Amino acid sequence: MEKIIGIDIGGTKINFACVQRENIISEVISCKTPDTAEEILNSLCRGIFDLIEKYDAKGIGIATAGTVDLENSKVTGSTGNLPKGYEKLELKKVFTENFKLPVLIENDANAAAFAEFKAGNAKGHLNTLTVTLGTGIGGGIIVDGKLLKGKTGAAAEVGHIPMTYEKLRKCSCGSWDCWEAYASGTGYAINAKEIAQKIPPEKRQGILKNKVISELTTYDVIEGLKNNDFFSIKVHDVWEEYLSMGFASLINIFEPESIVLSGGMAKAVNYEALNSKIKERIVIAETKLIPAQFENNAGIIGAALLLLEKL
Ligand SMILES: [Zn+2]
Repeated sequence: MEKIIGIDIGGTKINFACVQRENIISEVISCKTPDTAEEILNSLCRGIFDLIEKYDAKGIGIATAGTVDLENSKVTGSTGNLPKGYEKLELKKVFTENFKLPVLIENDANAAAFAEFKAGNAKGHLNTLTVTLGTGIGGGIIVDGKLLKGKTGAAAEVGHIPMTYEKLRKCSCGSWDCWEAYASGTGYAINAKEIAQKIPPEKRQGILKNKVISELTTYDVIEGLKNNDFFSIKVHDVWEEYLSMGFASLINIFEPESIVLSGGMAKAVNYEALNSKIKERIVIAETKLIPAQFENNAGIIGAALLLLEKL
């Protein structure tokens, strides 16, 4: 089986590795995402060159933050915290010319969903979704064994399902009250602050005692759960309600066999409690929520597997 270089480009880190089937056969090389688009291109070229030399790889699969066009050739927008000009980089063109190898670019959440479907915990599930719960919420959707792309390739932006008409909370996308604004790690901390504000200062106990509310973090609340802190349990319960709203929408639309949860916040999910909340909201058969197999390497592996399919 061919060896492929898998790359995951995120707002904070770029990871490289050589992949054979679904296995990473090199060390995972990680570097901080440079501050300019030009420097990103330079570090990508260096990383790819080193791995090709060492492993005789036959292709380059790239998972990136941002939306990607239908031809898997370029990033088209929504690149979050990547530097300005990143979406103008002609990654596919440059790498094809420089390295004379096939190149595929895919959105990172889509690549992660494909990895879980092809070789991870959703293996064999022809209809499955992977939802990444981190500082934001990302998604990839597999329908009848194929990645759902949409009209331009930007489908599966599941984090931006609106939760209410009220315009209460701004989302990172510029719109209001998206699922991500309430159910991501960022949303979790905002929920906690809002709930804490409603408690009169003299009644604040547990983790809230002597705490400046504006400094309350997601980490504080999750730590509090370990000690059965009353406030933490309340915040967590509200979070699971918000999660269940988004998941119910997705399940009702796609009727998937499974939903794979990945990302840092997935570790805080109580699957039993969440499943029973979802059950109250869905009108079709239940769906299994399962943890991801690949976690941090899902983008690398998924991009490599997607390229392999095309070779
Ligand atoms: Zn949004």
